[in-house]
Amino acid sequence: MDIVIKGREEVTNEDYNFLRVRMRRLEETYKQCIDQKVRQAVKERTLYEICERFPNFFEDYAEAFEACQMSSLREIVDLTDMVLGKYSVEKLPTIQASQVKKMLKLKDKALNSFVKGYNDAVAQRDLTYYSQRIDDKLVFLTQKDGELVGAVTQVSKAQRKGECLCHFCRKFRRGDEILFVTNSARTAKGEYSSLGQSICSDYERCNQDIEDRERVVKFLRYKSDTEAER
Ligand SMILES: [Zn+2]
Repeated sequence: MDIVIKGREEVTNEDYNFLRVRMRRLEETYKQCIDQKVRQAVKERTLYEICERFPNFFEDYAEAFEACQMSSLREIVDLTDMVLGKYSVEKLPTIQASQVKKMLKLKDKALNSFVKGYNDAVAQRDLTYYSQRIDDKLVFLTQKDGELVGAVTQVSKAQRKGECLCHFCRKFRRGDEILFVTNSARTAKGEYSSLGQSICSDYERCNQDIEDRERVVKFLRYKSDTEAER
């Protein structure tokens, strides 16, 4: 085997999750299905789905996919390890309180606690966004095109019944795993308007499943977008 150490390609956390979930699907398919035709069809669909999101993927991995016959778990695991090993997750940037003070409008103590929690988290974990519970609020921060995007949302006191779909990661959670939060704004006419969503209470878990940053950004920008409409 050639040992060529090339730099890993950096992708966002949500892109990496997307890739990991689809590559792992090959293993699941192999275990759950004995029909070679179905296994091959899943492999081809997987390659197609990944290529739609990663345009260079076909050129880099089409041959390896072609070579994988889906006839042993070993070759599937090898393919998955090879693909996932070529990527690393880009970190969210560390920040200083002054960068988010105006946007979040938190009192100094809460702001410092949030910034410390955020900086510790981004140093240790692969994240699309960070959130922290502060009293009856859930405070969020992410970045989009190099710009920090954050919001202070209000947590509903009412306990959610049954399972709820997290708006960010699209996974069902139950009980205290999920919170209903609202992002409120005051319109140019002076009316209050708010957008509510069910979101995972545990950002770490949410970040392991999330595949789309745009959903986060859109929700967090609700207040600033609404207040900017004049
Ligand atoms: Zn979630």
